[in-house]
Amino acid sequence: MTIETKFNHGQRVQAITYAQDQYEEMCPACQGTGKVTVNGVEFGCGNEFCWGEGYIRKYKPKQWFVPKDAFYNFVIQKINTETYNPKNRISKEYKDRVWYMAGASGTMFYEEELFLTEKEAQEECDRRNKQLENGQ
Ligand SMILES: [Zn+2]
Repeated sequence: MTIETKFNHGQRVQAITYAQDQYEEMCPACQGTGKVTVNGVEFGCGNEFCWGEGYIRKYKPKQWFVPKDAFYNFVIQKINTETYNPKNRISKEYKDRVWYMAGASGTMFYEEELFLTEKEAQEECDRRNKQLENGQ
């Protein structure tokens, strides 16, 4: 059996991921300074989500996005295939899929989640998120 792969060894690719992306919102108590002053005395902001950092970490709803982390932009070190059952264990409808191992981390990514450019990766995320919005 011959399996055609979309990418080659040594190629740099960008992965996408399905998760809750984080973002930071300025703390309303300390206005981003990490400090509050009460009767002329300065305290470290005690807002339970800020703790003196000046911002509050928030999470977006789960969706596809292009992570900015260098971990998701890597050179392919190893290519492998696996046979899996997309439906359930009882079904005999097996499929083959290709996965790629990232250089430094050794983490594996599936072919459908890798792209040559960040632009392509973002376009695919937009397409998948639109499908999610439409309940597909
Ligand atoms: Zn604060």
